[in-house]
Amino acid sequence: MIMAKVSAMDIYKLLPKTNCKKCGESSCMAFATKLQNKKAMVEQCPIMNTPKFEKNKKKLIEMLSPPVKEVWFGYPDKKCVMGGDEVMYRYELSFFNQTPLGIDISDNLSDEEIKNRAKYVEDFVFERTGEKLKLDFVAIRNASNDPEKFKKAIEIVQEATKLPIALCSLNPDNIEKALDVVKSKTMIYAATKDNFAELLKILIQKKESGKKFALVLSSDDIKTLKGMTKECVKYGIEDLVLDPHTTPENIAETLDKFVMIRRSAIEREDKLLGYPLLGLPINSYFYVLNGNNTLSKFIEESDKAAGIIEARTANALLNRYADAMILHGTEVWELMPILTLRQAIFTDPRKPQAVEPGLYPIGNPDENSPVIMTTNFSLTFYTVTGDFEKDNVKCWLLVLDTEGKAVDVSVAGGQYCGENAKNLIEETKIEEKVNHRIIILPGLAAPARGDIEEKTGWTCVIGTRDSSQVGEFLKKNWEKILNDWKAKNA
Ligand code: SF4
Repeated sequence: MIMAKVSAMDIYKLLPKTNCKKCGESSCMAFATKLQNKKAMVEQCPIMNTPKFEKNKKKLIEMLSPPVKEVWFGYPDKKCVMGGDEVMYRYELSFFNQTPLGIDISDNLSDEEIKNRAKYVEDFVFERTGEKLKLDFVAIRNASNDPEKFKKAIEIVQEATKLPIALCSLNPDNIEKALDVVKSKTMIYAATKDNFAELLKILIQKKESGKKFALVLSSDDIKTLKGMTKECVKYGIEDLVLDPHTTPENIAETLDKFVMIRRSAIEREDKLLGYPLLGLPINSYFYVLNGNNTLSKFIEESDKAAGIIEARTANALLNRYADAMILHGTEVWELMPILTLRQAIFTDPRKPQAVEPGLYPIGNPDENSPVIMTTNFSLTFYTVTGDFEKDNVKCWLLVLDTEGKAVDVSVAGGQYCGENAKNLIEETKIEEKVNHRIIILPGLAAPARGDIEEKTGWTCVIGTRDSSQVGEFLKKNWEKILNDWKAKNA
C-alpha cells in the first residue's frame, strides 16, 4: 500500500481541472499522479504559471516539498542529488535519490596520481541485472593544508574528468581560495563549531557574488547541528548537508544519530534537521594514535582490514539514511557490495524489475537445441543468462512476461501458465526454429507443467531448480530427451 503523505486527490484539488492536456498528460488527475510520484514539476502545467493560480502553485510546491530537502552539487547535466525523502521506510512509498558515492583524492598525491585516480573513479563501472552501477563524485582532500596544492588538485580533476567535486578542508582560507577555481556547484566539507563563524562569513560573500555550493555542517552533537543550520538559513545559505560524524569503531552510535535525525525530520517535521545526511565510511582509514580518539593519521595505501571495515560501515549507513557517502577504498571487492546494496535499496518497490519478454538465442543455437522457458524478472533473467554463458549452454531461451515476478511467485500468481506460454510460442515463432516440441521448465515451475502441456501441445521436461545446474543437466540428458521425443513423434 502506498502511504504518501500527500494524495493524488489533494494535488488534483489545486490544479486547474480543465483536462486541456497542455502538460502532456491525458488529464489533470494523471498529472497529479505524476506530481505525487515526483515524475513532473508543477511548472509543467502552463495554467499554473498564470497569476490566477499563483496562490495554488505556491501551496502545491509547499505541499510537495519533501521533509528532507533535496540538495544537489555538480554540473547541471551531471548532478549528485541528495535527500528528497518523505518516508522512513522504503515500502511506505519509495526512496528517490540514490546515495551518491564519492572517492577521496588527497592533494598530497602527484599530479599523475591525482589524474589517474580521478579517471579511475569516472570510468569505474560494475554491471548488475542489466544496470551499470557507477561512482558519482570525487572528494578532494586538502591533506597538505596548502591552498596552492589544493587548487592544483582541483584543476587537474576538472581537466581530466566531468565528475562533480566535493572540497574537503577545515581551513576557511583554503576553501575560499579553492572556490575561485571550482567550475561547478561544489559540496564544501565542512563547517564545524570551530571554523563556523569564519567560514560562514566567507560563504555569505561568495554567495552574494553568485557562487553556488552545498555546505556540510559537521558536529557529533545534534543540538550544535541545529544551531548551525538555523544560522545558515538566516543568511540564505539553505543548501545544507548534515554530518553527525561517522565512527566506524562505534557504528551503533553513528546509526543512532542518523536515525534520530531522520526521524525528527520526517515524523516530527523538524525543519532544522530536514537536510540530507553525509556518511563518512572513509573514517575507517584513520588510525587513532594517541588513545583519546583523536583521528590523526590517515592510511593512504591500500589496507585490507580498513577496506573491510569501510565496506561494512558504508552498507550499514546505506541502510540507515546516508544520502551521500565519501569512501577511500577503490578495490572492486569493496565497492561491489556497496553498489549492489544501493541498487537494491533504490529500486522502486512498486515496480518489479523486468526485462523484455521474447526469445533470446543463447550461444548460437540450432534446430536441435533445447528450448528453455524462464521469467522476465530481471534478477532471474541475468542470473540464468550469466550461468548459461559460464557453462557454454547453447539454447533458445523463452522469456515469459510474468510482470517481473520470479518463477515460484509467478507460478503461484498465475502468470507462469499455459495461456501465456502459448501466446509467447506464437509470437516468437519458435516452432520455425527447432525440429522438436520440447520445453524445459525450471524445477520451481513443475506445478505449471500440466497446464502448459495442455495449452501449448508441447512436451514439458522439468529441469533443475537452479540455473547453475542447467549446463550439467543438458550435458547428461538433452541428447536422450531429444531422441526419445523424436522416436515417439516420428
Ligand atoms: S496542463 Fe494543467 S490544466 Fe491542462 S491537463 Fe495538464 S494539469 Fe490539467
